[in-house]
Amino acid sequence: MHVLVVGGAGYIGSHMVKLLGQRGFQVTVLDNLCAGHRDAVQGARFVLGDLGERDLLNALFQAEHFDGVMHFASHIQVGESVREPAKYYLNNVFKTQYLLDAMVAHRVKCFIFSSTAAIFGEPLRVPIDEDHPKQPINPYGRGKWMVEQMLQDYDLAYGLKAVCLRYFNAAGADPEGKLGERHDPETHLIPLVLRAATSQRPITVFGTDYDTPDGTCIRDYIHVNDLGEAHLLALQRLWDGVGSAAYNLGNGNGFSVREVIDTARKVTGCEIPVVYGERRPGDPARLVADAHRARADLGWTPRYADLATIIAHAWQWETRAKS
Ligand code: UDP
Repeated sequence: MHVLVVGGAGYIGSHMVKLLGQRGFQVTVLDNLCAGHRDAVQGARFVLGDLGERDLLNALFQAEHFDGVMHFASHIQVGESVREPAKYYLNNVFKTQYLLDAMVAHRVKCFIFSSTAAIFGEPLRVPIDEDHPKQPINPYGRGKWMVEQMLQDYDLAYGLKAVCLRYFNAAGADPEGKLGERHDPETHLIPLVLRAATSQRPITVFGTDYDTPDGTCIRDYIHVNDLGEAHLLALQRLWDGVGSAAYNLGNGNGFSVREVIDTARKVTGCEIPVVYGERRPGDPARLVADAHRARADLGWTPRYADLATIIAHAWQWETRAKS
């Protein structure tokens, strides 16, 4: 089976490519390298290009038969999406539509979409199940929800089958230490906490007055390889003809920012200097997944559910020997 991985040079995409290769799939990566890294693509054919290049897309689908497409290529910073919505709607919505149109034109029917907990907005109840109202509060979340709705219409009209996977907080790294998180700039909590451990420059905790037991935000951290496994199961589900679906992906356990820092202190054995700052705009107090549906329908069981393991794998990556 041949899978096209769009955005396969990025953080989650590169882990996915490695997993697909290990399971014997033929893989082609399409990535414009605006955020990804060419050397993160291991064991796959690499095509440099942007989803906005419709001729390139058509040529790619003309030349190869793909049994499925996974789409990881999106901008991911919530704050930036508020300042530059045009960038987010162009890349995350319009260019995604070009990809879907190429799939329809070339009769490729199976699509796995990287969605997000941000489609839910400020949660009305926690844990968040799939049926929770979708009220995104920023352009990033709105764009992802637009694509989810577009996919429902494309299924009805064109028979394009899709599974939307709503990630909570993707974290961790390849257990073998070959891949990890390399965002520039890095904005995510765990890599920044680990960099504070190595540099001894303090990590800023964004807000200590949330309505949570220790006043800091609670998130559901899910290992990047467990996300990858969910993609494999979702693709198999489409190949089995079960039809389109959407799943929330998390461990169902919430950890506060302080708990993440404390766990990182234990895992690394390092001092982690902290300063306390203002709330970051747009951060809900608590985001925790109810992932029962993914467990029941897909048979998905996260393997690295333990926060210390997630942080240990990220630490292994942060402290790798850099050539
Ligand atoms: N956070 C923080 N300091 C940082 C980065 C993040 O306190 O330097 C907090 C952030 O406010 C949120 C949590 O850590 O409550 C996770 O943030 P991250 O950006 O990793 O993921 P998000 O939840 O925004 O997807």
